[in-house]
Amino acid sequence: MEELQKALNDGRSLTVSTLPDKGRCLFTSRHFSPGEVIISQEPYVAVPNKNSNDSSSRCEWCFSTRNLKKCSACQVVWYCGSTCQKTDWKLHRLECKVLSKVEKGRIKSLTPSIRLMVKLYLRRKLQVEQVIAMTSTDNYGLVEALVSHMSEIDENQLVLYAQMANLVSLILQWPEAEINIKDIAVNFSKLACNAHTICDAELRPLATGLYPVISLINHSCLPNSVLVFEGRLAVVRAVEHIPKGTEVLISYIETAASTMTRQKALKEQYFFTCTCPRCIKAGQYDDIKESAILEGYCCKDNSCSGFLLRDPEKRGFVCQECGLLREKEEIKDIEWEVKYLIEKASMCSSGNKIDASLTYKAVEKQQLELCHPFSINLMRTRETLLKEYIRAYILWLVCNIILVENLNGFLERLMKPSSH
Ligand SMILES: [Zn+2]
Ligand SMILES: [Zn+2]
Ligand SMILES: [Zn+2]
Ligand SMILES: [Zn+2]
Repeated sequence: MEELQKALNDGRSLTVSTLPDKGRCLFTSRHFSPGEVIISQEPYVAVPNKNSNDSSSRCEWCFSTRNLKKCSACQVVWYCGSTCQKTDWKLHRLECKVLSKVEKGRIKSLTPSIRLMVKLYLRRKLQVEQVIAMTSTDNYGLVEALVSHMSEIDENQLVLYAQMANLVSLILQWPEAEINIKDIAVNFSKLACNAHTICDAELRPLATGLYPVISLINHSCLPNSVLVFEGRLAVVRAVEHIPKGTEVLISYIETAASTMTRQKALKEQYFFTCTCPRCIKAGQYDDIKESAILEGYCCKDNSCSGFLLRDPEKRGFVCQECGLLREKEEIKDIEWEVKYLIEKASMCSSGNKIDASLTYKAVEKQQLELCHPFSINLMRTRETLLKEYIRAYILWLVCNIILVENLNGFLERLMKPSSH
């Protein structure tokens, strides 16, 4: 901890503190300007996500999907080229041996979490053996210091962690003196509330990584900093002027949500009740208004932009601007229709792209009748719709190129003088 403190203070103008209700946290020891990098870190370990809809994979080091070649020895890990393979070699050399021994039928059980845990123990071993250098910001001690929330986890989850820990132990095949199931299970619990989803610039998830120093940064629904990824590198940048002696805060969750939704998400995944300036306003007029705009309904009158609150007589929802009532039944009908259309659209999405965009367009039309114009649900539908349009356009373009090429070939053959 002292070494980490020194490294952060010298290199980064940051100090590690401990707050009674929050545990460890990071404070600035100088002023930071908006956009400035506060801290950046390479992951202790990272594993690419499995693509859910197809069998294609990602490069183990840079997470690219291009020019991939499978490691011929273990048949599990992919690389985009020799540069990434070489960079990852010290760790993969050991991992490769371990993975090669996994029975064919078990390969499928190598989920990203299992692989991340195996890599965690292998990297620890390599640092102990000084094959990989240990530094004050890159060592297993920092992983050990992470919170696990073991006492708050429900029994089913504990059983699952124990099963996963068993599998990891089976894969590693280390003697009992070097590893025990309970430690691995505790580490799974640590991963659940500390690991980060590594995203690209468009916020598409690529991989999962453990960044123990970044994990010191606490959450706020009104953060002064933001965590972004540049490839594998986690970068925390100031989003406003941060004076000296201020706690660095990022948001762990989607901030465009009602206070109730945010609190629920934080409690479920991170086991705490947020007391940020936005959350302490819960129940006040401004907070209720914000929540009703983000997740509530629009006025029955199209030209009115008022937000709706529950009618005290429980007939439905009343516009706070013009007083018009929207009945429960009407809202229910449209909600049912939206739900049906979204299911249909996501089914189309894996098949016919043009159908999918038409169905999402219908979702948008229904949501416009239902949601406040600034609602997040509407925003999300529009985002999906845009992506579907882009996909459909690319598909159309590719079809046309093939068509033109075929046509050219056909014309050439037609024009050729016959050979006899
Ligand atoms: Zn690569
Ligand atoms: Zn391999
Ligand atoms: Zn909050
Ligand atoms: Zn109104």
